[in-house]
Amino acid sequence: MSASSYSTHKDQLCLKVAVPLPVRETFHYAVPGELREKVKVGCRVRVDFRSREVDGYVLEEQPAGRRENLKEILKVLDPEPVFHDSLVPFLTWMADYYLCPIGLLIRSVLPSALSQRVYKTARITEKGEKASGLLPADSEERKWLIWVKENPGRKIPFSAGKARSFEREGWIVVDEKRGSRRAGPLMRKFVRPHDRDGLKALLKEKRQSFKAANEFQFLETLSNSRGIPLKDLLSRFSNGAYLVRKWKDRGFLETYTAPVPRNLDGGSLFPPPAPFDLYEQQERVLSAIERGLDRRVFMSYLLHGITGSGKTEVYCRAIEYAIRQGRKAILMVPEIALAVYMEGIFRSRIGDRIAMYHSGLSEGERYDQWMRIARGEVDLVVGARSALFAPFQNLGLIIVDEEHDLSYKQEEAPRYQARDAAVVRGKLEKAVVLLGSGTPSVQSFYNAHTGRYTLLSMPDRVEKRPMPEVRIVDMKKFSGAGEKDEIISPVLKTALDNVLASGKQAMLFLNRRGFHRIYLCRSCGRSLRCPNCDLALIYHLKQNRLVCHYCGFYQELRSDCPSCGSLGLKPYGFGTERLEEILQALYPDRCIARMDRDSTRKKHQTFQMLKKFSRREVDILVGTQMITKGYDFPNVTLVGVIGADFSLGFPDFRAGERTFQLLSQVAGRAGRGDQRGQVIVQTFNPDHYAIAAAKEHDYHGFFEKEKELREQLGYPPFSFMACLRLQGNNKKRTAEMAGWVARTMSSLLKSWPKRGKEIHVLGPVEAPLSKIRGKYRWQIFVRSRKTWLLHAFLERVENVCEKKLNQAGVQLVIDIDPYQML
Ligand SMILES: [Zn+2]
Ligand SMILES: [Zn+2]
Repeated sequence: MSASSYSTHKDQLCLKVAVPLPVRETFHYAVPGELREKVKVGCRVRVDFRSREVDGYVLEEQPAGRRENLKEILKVLDPEPVFHDSLVPFLTWMADYYLCPIGLLIRSVLPSALSQRVYKTARITEKGEKASGLLPADSEERKWLIWVKENPGRKIPFSAGKARSFEREGWIVVDEKRGSRRAGPLMRKFVRPHDRDGLKALLKEKRQSFKAANEFQFLETLSNSRGIPLKDLLSRFSNGAYLVRKWKDRGFLETYTAPVPRNLDGGSLFPPPAPFDLYEQQERVLSAIERGLDRRVFMSYLLHGITGSGKTEVYCRAIEYAIRQGRKAILMVPEIALAVYMEGIFRSRIGDRIAMYHSGLSEGERYDQWMRIARGEVDLVVGARSALFAPFQNLGLIIVDEEHDLSYKQEEAPRYQARDAAVVRGKLEKAVVLLGSGTPSVQSFYNAHTGRYTLLSMPDRVEKRPMPEVRIVDMKKFSGAGEKDEIISPVLKTALDNVLASGKQAMLFLNRRGFHRIYLCRSCGRSLRCPNCDLALIYHLKQNRLVCHYCGFYQELRSDCPSCGSLGLKPYGFGTERLEEILQALYPDRCIARMDRDSTRKKHQTFQMLKKFSRREVDILVGTQMITKGYDFPNVTLVGVIGADFSLGFPDFRAGERTFQLLSQVAGRAGRGDQRGQVIVQTFNPDHYAIAAAKEHDYHGFFEKEKELREQLGYPPFSFMACLRLQGNNKKRTAEMAGWVARTMSSLLKSWPKRGKEIHVLGPVEAPLSKIRGKYRWQIFVRSRKTWLLHAFLERVENVCEKKLNQAGVQLVIDIDPYQML
C-alpha cells in the first residue's frame, strides 16, 4: 500500500509500543508520513516518553480510530524487524504470567547489542559545593560529592537511590546519557569488478603489458569473484592497496561495505556418530512425533527415555522431518558445552542452515545469529534457555532436552522457566513441543499423568546395554575414621585402584551447591528438618541457630539428635577442591582434573576440559553437576558420588527429586561403551527413598512416593507457588518492610471473603543467604491451588505495596514458580 493512501485522518495508523521501563502498560504513538513505509512490527522506534527519549518496540499496527493527539514516533531504528508479529502473543503472555514489564522483557530477550546503554551522570550545584565543605571529612556523602565535582559527565559509581537523595538536597543535578551502540553487524570493505566484461577483455588483450609482476594475477582473481574482502586482498598482494586504487580510478573495480557473519567456533567435540538404523522403540516414538507434526496443531509430548536409549537420534530425525515440512525448529539443551556438542552433530546432518544461541557468545555473535534467524536464513537454532525466544516465523518444533534440568529456570529478571514457557510458545504458534529426559521432572511427569502431555517412552538402552550396577556405601561406618576415609571410602578407593590399573577412566561427582555446611547426624544419617514443612533447617551463623527458610521455624543448635538421641549431630562439608587434593595425594602420578564453576569461568574452558577427558589425557575427572550432563565417554567405567547427602540436605521441597535426578544422571555416565559400568554412591542415608529408587533405576517407584509426599504437604504440582523477595541496603528497614508486606498480604486476604482462604502466605523469613552483594534479603512464600487466583492476588499486592517500598528503598522481586529457595 502506498503512503498516500493513509492520508485521510480516519485511516491513520497508530503503533502499540512497549517501552523498556518498569511499567506494565503499552502505549500508542502515531506515525509521521515519512516513516510509514519504514516502520514494521518488531522494529525498534525512538519515542518521547514522559519527556525523555526512549527506544521502544513496535508490537502492533492498528487503525488510530478515535485516538487523537497521539505523539508521533521520532525515528525508526531498524531497517528490518528484529522479531515478527508471530512472537508478540508469546512475549505478551510471558510478561503477564511472570509479572515482568513487557518492554523490559523484550529488551532482555533481544541481543544486548540492540539496546543502548542509558546511564546516569551528575553535575554538582553551588549548594553541593558548599555542602561538601561542611560535611564531616570522613562522611560518605562528602566523598561522593567530591567525586561528582571532579568527574562531571561520567557514569556515577553510586546507587540511583543515593543520586536521588542528593538531588532532593539540591546538591547535584542528575542527567541521563545514552551510550554508543555496542555491536551491530560486523561491516567489512569489499572489492569487486565494476565492469566484469570490460575487465575480462582487458585481461585478454593486454596480458603482456602489466607493469607490476602480480598485477595480472590480481585482476584475474577479482574478475572471477563476486567480491573479495579488502583485508584478504591486502594480505595476498603486498601492493594491493596501490592496485585497488589504480584500477578503481580507471573504472574497472569498485569498493563497497557489507556485513559479514562473525566466525563461530562451531567445531564438534567428538566425531558425530554416523546415522544408524532406528531401534524399534525409536521408530515408535518418532512416528508418533511425525504424526503430530503432520497435523500442524499444537501437541506436547514428554519423552521418557533413559540415558543411553538413543534420544539424540530421535531429536535429529524429528528436526529433519519438521524442516522437510518447510518449518523451523528450536533445540534447547541445558549447558552451553552441550549446545556446542549438539551443534557439531546437527551441522554434519543438516548443513549450515543452523544457528547457535546462548550466553557464551559475544555480543556481536549473538547479534549476528539473532538476525540470521529473524531473516529466515536458518532452519534450526541450538542453544541454552535463551534460544526459546528465537525470532522464527513458521515454527514447527521445539525440543527441550533434559527438561528436568534446573538451568531452564532463569534466576535473574525476567524470571521464567524456559521449559514451561516453551510449551506455551508451542501452543500459541501451533507447534509440536517435545520435552525429553531420562528422569523427567515431577511437574512434567505429573502433567503426562493427568493427560496434559502425551507420554512417550523408550525404556531400553540402545543395543540393550545393561544399566550400570549401583552400589550404595553407608558412610556412617566410616564416621571418625579420619578425613581421607570420610571423603573417599575404602570401597571407592579399591574400585578406583582397579579402574586405573585397567586403563579406564573415572568420574567423581560432588554436589556442593554453594553450601558449605549441613547439619547431619553421624549415627543415624538424618539432617535436622522443620517439623511443619519437612525441609532441611539451615544454619544461620549470626544468630547461631537453625532456621526453616520457608515458614520461619527455628531452633537452637544442638548436638543431640532428635531422631536417634545420640550426640552425633555435626556440621558436614567440603568441596571439589579438597576432593581433588586428596585424590592427587592418593594417586600422585595420575592426572586428576576438576570441573566446576570456579575452574571453568572462561568460555572455552569447559569445552577444552571435556576434550582432554575424551582424549583420555585425564584419569579422574572431579566435578559438580556440570559433569552429569549428557556427554558420551565410552572409556568411563566408574562413577563415584561423594556426598549424596548434600543434595538431600538442601532446603527445598524438590530435594528428593533433585537427588534422584542427579544420581540417575551420574549413573548414566558409566558404562557407555562395551563394558558394564559401576556406580558407587556414598551417603549417610542409604535408605532414603530417592537413593533407594535411584539404585534400582526405578523412576516410577520414585514418582509415586514423591507425588504422595507433595500432595500431603500441598507442594507443586498440587499447588502454584510464588516467592516474594525483599531486598535492600538497610538491614533494619528491609526486615521492617518484609514484616509490613506480610501483614498487608494477610489483611488483603481477610478482606477477600470467598477467595482469601484459598491462598496461603508463609513468612516473612530471612533468606538462607541473608545478604548477597551488599543487599539484605527476606522472603515470603505464597501458594494456591489456582494459578489465576495467585496472579490476581500478587498484582494487588504489588500495586498496594509499590509506593511505600520505593520510599523505603526496598526492592520487591516476585519469582513465579520459584526453584531457588535461597
Ligand atoms: Zn541421629
Ligand atoms: Zn518450616
